[in-house]
Amino acid sequence: MKGLAMLKIGEIGWIEKERPTCGSRDAIVKPLALAPCTSDVHTVWEGAIGDRHNLILGHEALGIVDEVGNEVRDFKPGDRVIVPAITPDWETEAAQRGFPSQTGGPLGGWKFSNSKDGVFGEFFHVNLADHNLAHLPDGMSLEAGVMLPDMLSTGFLGAENAKIGIGSTVAVLGIGPVGLCGVAGARLRGAGRIFAVGTRPAAVRVAKEYGATDIISYKDGNTVEQILEATGGAGVDAVIIAGGGPDILVDALNMARPGSVVSNVNYFGSGMGESDILPIPRVGWGFGMADKSIVTGLCPGGRVRMERLADMVMYGRMDPSRMATHVFRGFDRLEEALLLMKEKPRDLIKPVVLLAS
Ligand code: NDP
Ligand code: ZN
Repeated sequence: MKGLAMLKIGEIGWIEKERPTCGSRDAIVKPLALAPCTSDVHTVWEGAIGDRHNLILGHEALGIVDEVGNEVRDFKPGDRVIVPAITPDWETEAAQRGFPSQTGGPLGGWKFSNSKDGVFGEFFHVNLADHNLAHLPDGMSLEAGVMLPDMLSTGFLGAENAKIGIGSTVAVLGIGPVGLCGVAGARLRGAGRIFAVGTRPAAVRVAKEYGATDIISYKDGNTVEQILEATGGAGVDAVIIAGGGPDILVDALNMARPGSVVSNVNYFGSGMGESDILPIPRVGWGFGMADKSIVTGLCPGGRVRMERLADMVMYGRMDPSRMATHVFRGFDRLEEALLLMKEKPRDLIKPVVLLAS
């Protein structure tokens, strides 16, 4: 079978591989809709998680089940499914402690395009199908559905981890597709004022639709000063970080008021210099004593998470298809879509590739 792979750091290409084999509790799935992620860009062009050779990329997919193992109960060939980006081993110790995305070590639940071939192949393997697949609801568009495996799950996690209370003031740093879902998540959790920080016009439009009350351009002045001025010097109750380089942590802590949470879902891929240490501002962090928490998280995966996100969409809480700014048709267009994600033109939020209508 054919797949779009990371050949080595900085290089992608189409390769031929054996079709994966199916374990007794697993499934083999054919893609129905795919989306490249900024994380693929960090992985390939920044070498953020180290080198990989001929590893098929991609972790955002809807699919059609092609084969299931003999112990799989709830899925059969032909079923249309949502495939979570993160597919944990649910029996592990980390999962039982409540951190399934970290099974088998930090980020261990992230298998696709990290520790095994991803979803950008003509077929891909899903471990523990009954736990790591969800049925795609009838009537959900592919453009909306393909945002669930990672964009909604991660952006909403940013808002969940930020412990947003009713009426809280929230800043979302970065309004690519992840941050936009952070904005939508903040509104759903009852935020009052929501600052959205970013400049791409398409994203600014959708940020307003998803609930941003104030748009801040980090290119038109210091973000912290703009937000402190707008809040009368108080700062914000919660910050969701979904973009920027290492210094974004400095901004976040400097605009966060005592008692706040800085919730990071950003993937710090590059710009680290030789030290590989992220900066924390000593004064802005209250010399380490100002009750400003920093929380991190990897996208939650698994079936229940996907079913709940699907409910959010099916019951009209949010329309993720608004983020699908570039729609390609056909598996062969995948490379173009991934390169677009790397280039980030001003009218881009998220490219998606549809393999069926
Ligand atoms: P995008 O590149 O599409 O968006 C990044 C956003 O950050 C843009 O709005 C950009 O603004 C903004 N930005 C850049 N620099 C700054 C700055 N200095 N201050 C404030 N905002 C800034 O990324 P995605 O939305 O696709 O992904 C966001 C991050 O989340 C990535 O690092 C990605 O790898 C990571 N990720 C993490 C996951 C997890 O499980 N934790 C899962 C999926 C993704 P502009 O409008 O100017 O472009
Ligand atoms: Zn992703």
